[in-house]
Amino acid sequence: MEKIKMTTPLVEMDGDEMTRILWQWIKEILIEPYVELKTEYYDLGLKHRDETEDKVTLDSAEATKKYGVAVKCATITPNAQRVEEYNLKKMWKSPNGTIRAALDGTVFRAPILLDGITPYIPTWKKPIVIARHAYGDIYKAVDMKVGAGKAELVFTDKDGKETRLTVHDFGDDGVVMGMHNTDKSIYSFARACFNYALDVKMPLWFSTKDTISKVYDHRFKDIFAEVYENEYKEKFAKAGIEYMYTLIDDVVARIVRSEGGVVWACKNYDGDVMSDMVATAYGSLAMMTSVLVSPDGIYEYEAAHGTVTRHYYKYIKGEETSTNPVATIFAWTGALKKRGELDQNAALEKFAERLEKATLDTIEQGEMTGDLVPLFKKEGVTPKKLESKAFLQAIAKRL
Ligand code: NAP
Ligand code: MG
Repeated sequence: MEKIKMTTPLVEMDGDEMTRILWQWIKEILIEPYVELKTEYYDLGLKHRDETEDKVTLDSAEATKKYGVAVKCATITPNAQRVEEYNLKKMWKSPNGTIRAALDGTVFRAPILLDGITPYIPTWKKPIVIARHAYGDIYKAVDMKVGAGKAELVFTDKDGKETRLTVHDFGDDGVVMGMHNTDKSIYSFARACFNYALDVKMPLWFSTKDTISKVYDHRFKDIFAEVYENEYKEKFAKAGIEYMYTLIDDVVARIVRSEGGVVWACKNYDGDVMSDMVATAYGSLAMMTSVLVSPDGIYEYEAAHGTVTRHYYKYIKGEETSTNPVATIFAWTGALKKRGELDQNAALEKFAERLEKATLDTIEQGEMTGDLVPLFKKEGVTPKKLESKAFLQAIAKRL
């Protein structure tokens, strides 16, 4: 069979630990035998980030802006322990944070549902998609430890005029933080969410804590309301879907009682936390896809989980590992499909769909990684645990 050709390269961002191993195997076993893979490769592995003083991360974000579609492997966000382990020059920032800030996007996280795996919340029949604003708030904040004294918020406008608010009069030690967002980014976040909901024909729920955060969160609420009213109300009515704003506590309660089938738009931190909760409740963190969509239509696909460190340490000791590669496979298929769509390369799009189907068929027919075995219940099918490479080979047999 002749291999499928690509016209435009994908931006390929390699990563760390167990997911770096899976990355290589996915390419070798599931993609390269079928596609003449064209990528512009950036090694975001921690060692190379350190060698390039993290320039490689910025370069990869620039390349994503140039080509429009990227696929990213999970990467280590260094902490003090990693600085020691890798003998780093500096505690480099989260590459995801850097890339999100550069692309000013919204992250959409959707679970991969399949026959045989029932969510922990049994009423959830349809996917819940978390739309996470990926700019600002605590991810771009400054904070400090302080002693006794007064903390103030000072804004100096372009003419030099100051506005001051007292944050707190400290009688003793404490901590303070300053964070921001921009109207521009919030407008893009709103439009990205409305567009996505229309695209997948699912209702959109947006939540903040505007009763407490009367200026900051309220700004988000007002911008969403304005954008909806002026640009999306009619389109939503036509598509038969609704937009609802409510407090985050209320949405949490509603989500648990719902049958799923909604897009839940969250501020940056809420989305970070809630997407892990939702992914786990659907069965496994390893079954959650993630795509960063920028306001100018740039896409970066990744898995929602991390580098699976615990499995990696077993792997390097030569022990068998059964790490689930599904979300990483779906990052590749998402990127290949989008590339195919943008380049009008139907063969590439079809291949990505076939790979997704082969992956789900493999699990539904009983072959899966260890994390899914205890969750799998299907009449007439006994789940069989495979190590990662054997699982990839089982998928390849069905391609
Ligand atoms: P993690 O890599 O997501 O793993 C946490 C645990 O979840 C694993 O130990 C494993 O549980 C389970 N798990 C996650 N993915 C799995 C998979 N594909 N297959 C099977 N089990 C899976 O999170 P972490 O251990 O907190 O973080 C490890 C590193 O990843 C950190 O350095 C962090 O900075 C980085 N990280 C990167 C990203 C990203 O690049 N997007 C996101 C999050 C974290 P068991 O051990 O019980 O099997
Ligand atoms: Mg998180």
